Amino acid sequence: MQTEKLKLAIQKSGRLHDDSIKLLKECGIDISNGINQLKTEASNFPLEVFFLRDDDIPQYVEDAVADIGFVGENVVYEKNKKLKVVEQLGFGKCRLSIAVKKGESYNGPEYLQGKKIATSYPVILQQYLQQKNIKAEIHEISGSVEIAPGIGLADAICDLVSSGSTLFMNGLTEAEVILKSQAVLIQHQQLSAEKQQLLEKLVFRIQAVKKAKNNKYVLLNAPNDKLSEIIALLPGMKSPTVLPLAQPGWSSVHSVLSENQFWEIIEQLKNAGAQGILVVPIEKMIV
Ligand code: ATP
Ligand code: MG
Repeated sequence: MQTEKLKLAIQKSGRLHDDSIKLLKECGIDISNGINQLKTEASNFPLEVFFLRDDDIPQYVEDAVADIGFVGENVVYEKNKKLKVVEQLGFGKCRLSIAVKKGESYNGPEYLQGKKIATSYPVILQQYLQQKNIKAEIHEISGSVEIAPGIGLADAICDLVSSGSTLFMNGLTEAEVILKSQAVLIQHQQLSAEKQQLLEKLVFRIQAVKKAKNNKYVLLNAPNDKLSEIIALLPGMKSPTVLPLAQPGWSSVHSVLSENQFWEIIEQLKNAGAQGILVVPIEKMIV
C-alpha cells in the first residue's frame, strides 16, 4: 500500500515557477488546487508540493524538509549543500557571466587581477578566480548587481545573463561565461526505498516529456521508386512505418526526427522527392 508522499520544493514565484508547474502538468501530475498557497497536494500522484524562495531549496533538500526540488544549477553550486543532482530539466537556461564596462579592453581573465567584482555568486566566482590564479576583490550584493559599475562600486560584475539586454542597458558587455545553467531536479542524499521508487516514476515521466520535446513526428508521401532513398535519410526509432497510399505507386512514410537534425533532413527529403511533408509535435515519448 502507498503510504508515503514525495515532497517536492519548487520556486514560489519568479522565473522558474511557471515552467516547473508546466513540467508537472506535462508529466500528468495535477496540482491545480492551491498553486497560490504555501503547500499543495497532487490529486493523482503521491506528491506534495512546497512553494519556496529558490535560494532556500537546496537547504530544505539537504535537511529532508523536502525530498526533491526543482532549482537552477547556479543556485545548487552556489549553496554547495549535500544533495544529488538527478536530471536536467531543459528550462531556466541562463549563464553566469563576468561583464565589464563597454569599451574596456578585456583581454581574458587576467584583466580581473586586482579588480573589484560585484556578484550574488561569491562561491562560484571565487572558485573560478582560484582556478585561473587570479586575485580579485569580491563584493557580495544580493540584487541589482548590474548597476554596481555605474555607481563606482565595482569594476566588473558576475551575474546571470540570458538575453544580455540588462547588461546592454547598463552599459556593460559580457566578457566571460563561467557557468552554463538550467533548472535541475535535485534529491536528498538518502531517500527511503518507497520514496526512491516514487522518484524513479517521476524521473521516467520527465524523461519521456523531454524526449518528446526534442523530437518531431514526420509524415510524408513518397513515390515508390524513391522509397529506399528516402528511408535511408530517416533515422526513426526503429525503422520508419511505410503504408501504401490510395494512389498507386505512392506510399506514406512515418518517422521520428530529432529537433537538431530536423531542418537539414527535411531539405534532403524534399530533394529526394518527398511530398506533403507533415511535422507533428509529440506529447510523450518512451523508448
Ligand atoms: P526568489 O524570490 O525565488 O529568490 P530570484 O529573484 O532569486 O527568486 P529569479 O530571478 O526568479 O530568482 O530566477 C530564478 C532562476 O531562474 C535563477 O536562479 C536562474 O537559475 C534562472 N534564470 C534564467 N534566466 C535568468 C536570467 N536572465 N536572470 C536571472 N535568472 C535566470
Ligand atoms: Mg532567489
